[in-house]
Amino acid sequence: MSTRIWLNTTQAAEVAGCHRDTVLKALEAGELHGNQRKAKGRWRVHADCLDKWCAGEKCAHQIEVAA
Ligand SMILES: [Zn+2]
Repeated sequence: MSTRIWLNTTQAAEVAGCHRDTVLKALEAGELHGNQRKAKGRWRVHADCLDKWCAGEKCAHQIEVAA
């Protein structure tokens, strides 16, 4: 079982069924948790985090930060 499933914004948009721009905006706003290797670099989104975002929930990482 892999726990490292990373999606780029195009793949994330496909999975979420929304536009890539929507995914990007959510990432920049911090609504969707993702990683950037460098500022203005490419986003990578973990599948679990994307799942939570689609459900309108916070992912485990966001809950940790808020706690
Ligand atoms: Zn997360």
